Amino acid sequence: MRIGRNTLGVVGLAFTLTSCALPTSSSTGGEAAVDESSVVAPAPEPTDTGEGSDITALVGGRILDGFGGPPLEQGVLIIEGGRITAVGPAAETDIPPDAARISTEGMTVMPGLIDMHVHMMLLGHGDYRRWDELYGDRMNDVVMPIAAGQLLSSGVTSARDLGANPDEILELRRQIDAGEIPGPRLFVSGPFLQVAPYEEYEAPFRWGIGSELQARQTVQDLARRGIDTIKLIDQDQMDEGVVAAIVETAHAAGLPVVAHGHRMEEIRVGLRHGVDNFEHTGLGTAPGYPEDVLEQLRERNSSLYWTPTVSPLLTMQYTGEIFPERLDDPRWRQGMPEALADEIRGSLSQITHLPYYALFPSRIPKLATKFAQLRETGVTMMIGTDSGIPTMFHNDSTWREMALWVQLGVPPMQVLQAATLWPARFLRADADIGVLAAGRYADVIAVRGDPLSDMRVLESVDMIFKGGERIR
Ligand SMILES: [Zn+2]
Repeated sequence: MRIGRNTLGVVGLAFTLTSCALPTSSSTGGEAAVDESSVVAPAPEPTDTGEGSDITALVGGRILDGFGGPPLEQGVLIIEGGRITAVGPAAETDIPPDAARISTEGMTVMPGLIDMHVHMMLLGHGDYRRWDELYGDRMNDVVMPIAAGQLLSSGVTSARDLGANPDEILELRRQIDAGEIPGPRLFVSGPFLQVAPYEEYEAPFRWGIGSELQARQTVQDLARRGIDTIKLIDQDQMDEGVVAAIVETAHAAGLPVVAHGHRMEEIRVGLRHGVDNFEHTGLGTAPGYPEDVLEQLRERNSSLYWTPTVSPLLTMQYTGEIFPERLDDPRWRQGMPEALADEIRGSLSQITHLPYYALFPSRIPKLATKFAQLRETGVTMMIGTDSGIPTMFHNDSTWREMALWVQLGVPPMQVLQAATLWPARFLRADADIGVLAAGRYADVIAVRGDPLSDMRVLESVDMIFKGGERIR
């Protein structure tokens, strides 16, 4: 069931309707190039056949391969051994006779989504301290598997977790990779590296770094343990020698550094030391980015990535003031024991009274300006949602950020690529994920309707494959 017209509760934001714009980009990758002049395909088999086969053929839908070129109408996508073996027009693509044929008529077939900023240790609860008291020692057996299942069932086949106890998040990644529990492919940072934890209970996932030696040893240790990225926050409050040691050591180990970009000085320090990817736009009180920051972003735009996470503030406000009924929608309870879901529901019942809620009026009006400024600099923007923070339920986060970007004026094809191709490249995983092309993992979703006309169709994904395995 679709909710309200103003689904994102965008109040006071410039609303630009670009929903009918078809992509004009010519950046189609070679592998999946499509000849549009192909003859009309014979009507594909409407019913699903061949169950139990090792080969799967998705037959008949529109395919958006993720390279940004024109959609492929009446496409066929073949999956074998967990990977895609062919993508092409139905008229020109041989379907092996023993393939299981699945009709995607009326659907858009596209790469699985990649959410670049999630928190698997959180499930939307309104009070971090109470959450830690109740569930802080239930991460691997209760909390994280729920988060993983919810993300995957919303079409997120890969996700980057940016802040967790490394023991717990690495164990979750192992469980998912071993097929013990369903979940997205995970890319993880482990702990936040910062000056000191804000609260004592946060020490397992917020690590204070006080010296250059400690910085080097910590980053090397995390790299040895298989962490994918380093997460740095409050770097403007850190000794700059320590910041430099963190970034240098990470880069020497082949790890990118992701840093908070809430405050202007935080961004300046990060830029000075070569941070690869900044997160957020919303929390600083500045009305916009100052010219010296924008100038540096323009200079570095070919190598710099930004995950603006614009939707959380608006989703919280939407839930608090515009459509509180959202909290009684049973869908966000997916996979949760009843007592846990009730606890989360209770924590959000007075959402407008939560301490951070009072900050919204001063921050929300600046989001659109800052988002537009970032886009203008040419940095590569990626979809990330802070999924798991209050009201950001894992099965209801990613599509909201994507729909909001369309409202903020980003052409829909670019929004899709910000949730597929660009994250895959940043993660250096683009040989395996991010596009639909022969040789890539079969991380594929199919959704009824056309996300290029209405991104909200992604609220309910009809088919999900991860590594060729059908999840839905
Ligand atoms: Zn976060």
